[in-house]
Amino acid sequence: MAFITLSRDNFYHNLNQIALKTGSKEKIAIVLKDNAYGHGLEPMAKMASEFGIQHAVVRNYLEAKEIESLFESILILGGEAVPGERFSYAINSLEDIARIPAGTRVELKVDTGMHRNGIAMNDLVPALERIRQKKLHLIGVMTHFRSADVLSSELFWQRKQFERVKKIVAEAGFTQIRIHSHNSAAILRSQDFNEDLVRVGIAAYGYNELPKVFDNIELKPVLGLYAKRVATHILKEGERVGYGGAFTAPKEMRITTYDLGYGDGWPRGDSDNPYLTAEGLPMLGRVSMDFVTLETDAEEVCIMDHAQKAACHFGTISYEMTTALSPNIERSVI
Ligand SMILES: *Cc1c(COP(=O)(O)O)cnc(C)c1O
Repeated sequence: MAFITLSRDNFYHNLNQIALKTGSKEKIAIVLKDNAYGHGLEPMAKMASEFGIQHAVVRNYLEAKEIESLFESILILGGEAVPGERFSYAINSLEDIARIPAGTRVELKVDTGMHRNGIAMNDLVPALERIRQKKLHLIGVMTHFRSADVLSSELFWQRKQFERVKKIVAEAGFTQIRIHSHNSAAILRSQDFNEDLVRVGIAAYGYNELPKVFDNIELKPVLGLYAKRVATHILKEGERVGYGGAFTAPKEMRITTYDLGYGDGWPRGDSDNPYLTAEGLPMLGRVSMDFVTLETDAEEVCIMDHAQKAACHFGTISYEMTTALSPNIERSVI
């Protein structure tokens, strides 16, 4: 079976780099949504907890439940609210305030310009009133930046909006609130972090999607993707490989199929512009559901050791490369 390795050293290296920006690891909330960006929820949560991370962010209750014992707080970004001692729920809309059961710990997401989820600035005061009436337990106020990864003044504009939010929340009499707005891109750019928490995802996994000018921190990829040998053949000159016979052998070649395909979340891509594995081997012909073909007979091959480079090839981003990987692929910490 294809397998994934997770480098503890690289993960801890990245977390240390982020802690330098936040001032301490206590201020890091590790974002583990979507199976820890495809890395594997359980092993990543365990490593983060062993490093000393106390806060996590997940997509739904099921993910939170799985890692409940490992963290002091778990912020759940969406889905049905099931109260739990350590859990808090993001309020994404006014309807959420009506829907979430009284007594639940909540964190108010304010829309400071991304216009995806969150309470509009104009609705902030009534939203705070309703939270109080409904007896929800407000423990945090947050926002999300739309272009922290772009070289422009937008981030500063949105930060200004968020400063207003903080003021309004304080004036409404809510205290003991944790304030957080930074994702990876924002914290990597930040020189003067002064909030209570960062919600850091992609940087912890080792990728920096910021333009080169901000490339001041060295991050190391946590994930390696490997496949195992299935069958080796000799291909004669002129013979063709796989569906559609998209690759024609220019000479006699020793080729092997490996047990990874688009069924595992690996992109099918374009066989006319083949992906090169970490070791520089081009994928020959079309990617099948469960197999790829390479010119080697090694027992194991490293398909990918840097998701951002692979993402470049496929015209996407590191997030999508890793998140797409099937949860059925075996993960092991190295
Ligand atoms: C996914 C997510 C993050 C983490 O973003 P990265 O770019 O991976 O650091 C932070 N906050 C919210 C609300 C998110 O949905």
